[in-house]
Amino acid sequence: MIAPADTIAGMIATQGPLGDLTAHIGDGSPLGPVERWSPALISTVRLMLSSKAEIVLFWGPELCALYNEAYAPTIGDKHPAALGRPARENWAELWDDLEPLLLSVVQKGETVHAKDRPFYIERDGGRGEQVYFDISYSPVFEADGSIGGALCIVNETTQRVKAEREMVADRNRLWTLARDPFLIADMEGKWLSASPAWTDILGWSQEELIGRTSEWMEHPDDSARTREEVQTLQQGVLTIRFENRFRTKDGEYRSFSWTAVPDNGLVYCVARDVTEQRAHARALAETEAALRQAQKMETLGQLTGGVAHDFNNLLQVVTGNLELLQRGLNDNERMRRAADNAMAGAERAAMLTQQLLAFSRRQPLAPERVDPNRLVSRMSDLLNRTLGERIEVETIQAARAWPIEVDLNQMENALLNLAVNARDAMPDGGKLTIEVANTHIDDHYAAQEDDVQPGQYVLICLSDTGQGMDAETLSHAIEPFFTTKEVGRGTGLGLSMVYGFIKQSGGHIRVYSEVGEGTSVKIYLPRYHGLVPANDQLEEAPRPAVSGGDETVLVCEDDEKVRAYAVEVLNELGYHVIEVGNGPAALEALEQPGEHIDLLFTDVVLPGGMTGADVAREAAARRPDIKILFATGYARNAIFHHGRLDPGVELLTKPFTYADLAGKVREVLDRRVEQRVG
Ligand code: ADP
Ligand code: MG
Repeated sequence: MIAPADTIAGMIATQGPLGDLTAHIGDGSPLGPVERWSPALISTVRLMLSSKAEIVLFWGPELCALYNEAYAPTIGDKHPAALGRPARENWAELWDDLEPLLLSVVQKGETVHAKDRPFYIERDGGRGEQVYFDISYSPVFEADGSIGGALCIVNETTQRVKAEREMVADRNRLWTLARDPFLIADMEGKWLSASPAWTDILGWSQEELIGRTSEWMEHPDDSARTREEVQTLQQGVLTIRFENRFRTKDGEYRSFSWTAVPDNGLVYCVARDVTEQRAHARALAETEAALRQAQKMETLGQLTGGVAHDFNNLLQVVTGNLELLQRGLNDNERMRRAADNAMAGAERAAMLTQQLLAFSRRQPLAPERVDPNRLVSRMSDLLNRTLGERIEVETIQAARAWPIEVDLNQMENALLNLAVNARDAMPDGGKLTIEVANTHIDDHYAAQEDDVQPGQYVLICLSDTGQGMDAETLSHAIEPFFTTKEVGRGTGLGLSMVYGFIKQSGGHIRVYSEVGEGTSVKIYLPRYHGLVPANDQLEEAPRPAVSGGDETVLVCEDDEKVRAYAVEVLNELGYHVIEVGNGPAALEALEQPGEHIDLLFTDVVLPGGMTGADVAREAAARRPDIKILFATGYARNAIFHHGRLDPGVELLTKPFTYADLAGKVREVLDRRVEQRVG
């Protein structure tokens, strides 16, 4: 159906300010005169002219362009000449892009949307300009169903695109400035964009970070919790805070503290790198734990020390009286055996008490200079015998071991204790290695440990190939009475005694153990700065023979039973004995005219405000030639400097035997040198 030409032209003309659209379509246009336009073309042009949107219509085999007033400024200077001209001419510079688009519409009937398509156009007097369009192309059908052309609705988005680009640029600038890493993720946690700080901190590139969730670089222990947190966001929680760790490209983990806020389908997250803070907190917690452990040991030490002290007095009474009993039972075989058994038990109790004192660092020590190589080689013989054939003992000496200063008996006792532990850990045999080495504890190591001074140390290390300890056992091993051995086999006092003794000697002890791998106990003893005298102080000192005398001894002891025992022994030995229960009474006795007291035998700890040391000092002031012997259940600073005996001070430790007391009293009385009480 063909409408009259003027009617159609008129209809078109009435549709807007571009009324004379047709007038501009030159004779040369392949569209031909309006009179020959198809109804589909005419109705589409009418529609186009009535629209406020920018519309271009491409029509016919040549894809000739028609457009409305809204579009005219976009084509700029080419208007109105472009009307009715083939697209290839009008947009020659874009033709490579445009042609395939238009062909897919007019040949295949497809609808095409192009979003934010960039164009470089010249408008406003020829100044070139980058512009962006959203364009949608759809086919226009003729009455017979064939495709007559493509309708193209153009929507310029230049402003929006530019604003967005600027925003991104701003954000990037901001992100570059921001110290804390920032990121935008989707609701599933997939990273959409990440600030450059991430790359700085983690070492991963933007490409490696963007487009996926961060689970791949998250610490395996953290990912489950992070996932839970992200899920709460999906459930509508407004802000989440949590911490996690990410692996850096270097393979370390760094800790982050997060704040994440969802908005419009995206999650905005700020993270703070808290790695250093967490490391500090951890170090602090470890120090606190070490301190607590040290305090626990200290408290235990005080407790056991107190118990041991009282116990020693009781034992003194038991063993002393047993000894008297034994001496009087010479003829009665059965009674004698009973007394011997009782004595053996009491001696064993005395040994335990001694170990408790050692742990509480209150045993009197008599340190001497020792060559650690000699000490160890001398021990290896004893150990070979003690540990049995199935355990091989190897000693490794240091090339030029520094001397140390320790109480030799206690040191041997300690090594023996450790060796017995090693044996118990190797029921099927194995190897015990004892190694001596010079070593240096530096400031750094000392700072980590409780109560260790940096400096030069001799290391004596005992390693066994036994069953080792798990972490739980290891953490309790040193505590007194902690044992994993069956009743009767272990006392739990071995390691505690070694620990207390080494600490009291100014040293340091560390136990390393691994289940199934063995145990290694490291003892550090401070280097003694001086020469070890050539004479072999490792030889046993000869035991003094039991012999009495007729001198006068003043016994000052508050425990009546201990005192009674001492008095009885001394009387039996032939001495003249005066007994008192406290310091002032002792001084009174010293002032008695006509009494010449040769020896003051006094307990260290006394009631009534005066210590044994006070009494000794007063006595020496009054009677410069008086001899002094101390008895003690444990050492207190009164006569000890740092737990060591001052030179010239004589000491008898409780419980003491008949022979101990007899020998020591005689030895002190026979001594010529002046005694000093420090
Ligand atoms: P005891 O030997 O009487 O049990 P200790 O104080 O000597 O007491 O040791 C305490 C505990 O420490 C032992 O019971 C044992 O579990 C563990 N232990 C000590 N030394 C070793 C070692 N060399 N190998 C394995 N475990 C050990
Ligand atoms: Mg033991």
